[in-house]
Amino acid sequence: HLPPLDDPALLRSQAYIDGAWVDGGARFDVINPADNRVVGSVPNLARAETEQAIAAAGAAFPAWSARTGKERANLMRKWFDLMMASAEDLARLMTAEQGKPLIESRGEIAYGASFIEWFAEEAKRVCGDVLASTWTNRRTVVIKQPVGVCAAITPWNFPISMITRKIAPALAAGCTIVIKPAEQTPLSALALAELAHRAGIPRGVINVVTADADNSATVGKVLCASPVVRHLSFTGSTPVGRILMEQCAPTVKRLSLELGGHAPFIVFEDADLDAAVKGALASKYRNAGQTCVCTNRFYVHTAVYDEFVRRLADGSARIRLGNGFDDGVMQGPLIDDAAVQKVAQHVEDAVAKGARLLTGGRLHPQLGGRFYEPTVLADAKQDMTIMREETFGPVSAVTRFSSDEEVIAAANDSEFGLASYFYSRGIGRVWRVAERLQYGMVGINTGSISNEVAPFGGVKQSGLGREGSKYGMDEYLDIKYLCMGGI
Ligand code: ADP
Repeated sequence: HLPPLDDPALLRSQAYIDGAWVDGGARFDVINPADNRVVGSVPNLARAETEQAIAAAGAAFPAWSARTGKERANLMRKWFDLMMASAEDLARLMTAEQGKPLIESRGEIAYGASFIEWFAEEAKRVCGDVLASTWTNRRTVVIKQPVGVCAAITPWNFPISMITRKIAPALAAGCTIVIKPAEQTPLSALALAELAHRAGIPRGVINVVTADADNSATVGKVLCASPVVRHLSFTGSTPVGRILMEQCAPTVKRLSLELGGHAPFIVFEDADLDAAVKGALASKYRNAGQTCVCTNRFYVHTAVYDEFVRRLADGSARIRLGNGFDDGVMQGPLIDDAAVQKVAQHVEDAVAKGARLLTGGRLHPQLGGRFYEPTVLADAKQDMTIMREETFGPVSAVTRFSSDEEVIAAANDSEFGLASYFYSRGIGRVWRVAERLQYGMVGINTGSISNEVAPFGGVKQSGLGREGSKYGMDEYLDIKYLCMGGI
C-alpha cells in the first residue's frame, strides 16, 4: 500500500482552483486497484466549481500571456526541478492509485517532467514570420499568439504525463488551463498542482477540478459549452472523444484529441528476431497493456512464425505479476473490474473462433482480483474482436502472413491510426512499408517510441493534432496575419 511520503503535503485531498485548495459538498474515494484499499479522497465537483475554475483561468490569462516566454520558462523550469526532486513520492502516489509497478511510475515521472522541461525551452522560441509581399508598399507579417483559456480532460493510464503533455505547451504558449483528471487517478494531478503552486505559477493559471465518473460528464459539458474556453485537449477513448467533439461544435473550439489505437506489429522474414521479441514484449505489456500505443495485433511472416510465437509465449510467461510496490514486479493489476471483463471477453471470443491459447488466458491463480496473466493467442483471424477493438490489456494476438501487400492491407484495415510497429532489415522495404502504413507513428525495429521531442498523435479515428515536440506548441497558438500598409 501507499508507503509514507517524504513530503506528506503532496497527498492532497482538495481540488485546486484559482491558486487555492477547495472543497465541494460531496467527495469520492480513490482506490488502489491492487487491493481495493482507499488511498485518499477528493471533492466531487460539478458545474459551479467548473465555472469558477474557468473564470479564474480567464482572469489569469491577460497577465500570464503578457509575460515574456523567458519569464514563463523560468517558472516552468522551477516546477520541473521540484517534480524531479519529489520524483520518488510522485511515483509512490502513482503506483498507489494506478497500480503500475514502481519502476514504471518512476519512468513516467521522468517522462512527464520532460514535457515541462522541453516546453519551457520552447517558450523562448515562439517565432513569427515575414512573408514575401505581392505589393511593393505593404509588408506581410505573421505573429503567433496564445489561443486563450484551455481545458484538458485526461485518462488514468498515465496520470501525470498525459497532463504535463497538455499543460506544458499551454503554459509555455501563454495560455491558462482547467484540468479534469481521470476519476481513478486525481491524486497525481493534485500533487502536480501543489508543486506548480510552490514553483510560483500564478493563481488561476492552472486549475484542477476533480469529479467522479458521473460528474465528469457534467464538468465536460460545462468546459465544452463555455465560450471562454477556446481549446479542448482530450486523451481517452474514441467514443468519449466523439461526444466532446460534438459538444465543442457550438462554440467552434480548437481541439486536440488523442484517442484509441489498435497498433499492428509486423515481423518480416528478414527481421532480427531477438530484437523483434524484445520489442514485442516492451510494446505489448507496458502498463499491463493499458496504453493507446500498445500492440494489439501481431502479424508475423510465415517463415519465422513458429519461432517468434514460441519465444513471445516464453517471454510472456516470465512476466512477474504482483502489487506494484513489491520488488521485481513487472506487471500490476488492471485498472478496474470492467477492464478485466473486457480482456476476458476478447480472449474468450478469440478462442471460440479458433485461436490457440499458448499461455495465460486467466486471472493469476493466487493473486486473483484484477491481475490478468500475460496471454498469447496464436492463429488469430481478422474476424476476432481482438483484431478490431482496443483490448487495453496484456493479450498478444498473433497471426501469420506471407506477402508485403497482404500484411500492409491487413495492418491498415482499422478505424484507428495511432501507433504501428514493424521489424525488417531491408532498407528499401523499411521505407516502402513506413510510407504506406496509415498511422501517425511508426516504430521501426523498436517497440518503444514515446519521448518529448517526438510528435505524438494519430490519423483516422485516433485523433487530431500532435502532442510533444516542436509541433505540440502549435496546438496552443493562433496565427495572426498583419497586413502592414502605408510603407
Ligand atoms: P477510459 O475508458 O480509458 O477510462 P474515457 O474516455 O472513458 O477512457 O475517460 C478518459 C477521461 O474522459 C476521464 O477523465 C473521464 O472522466 C473523462 N470522461 C469520460 N466520459 C466523459 C464525458 N461524457 N464527458 C467528459 N469527460 C468524460
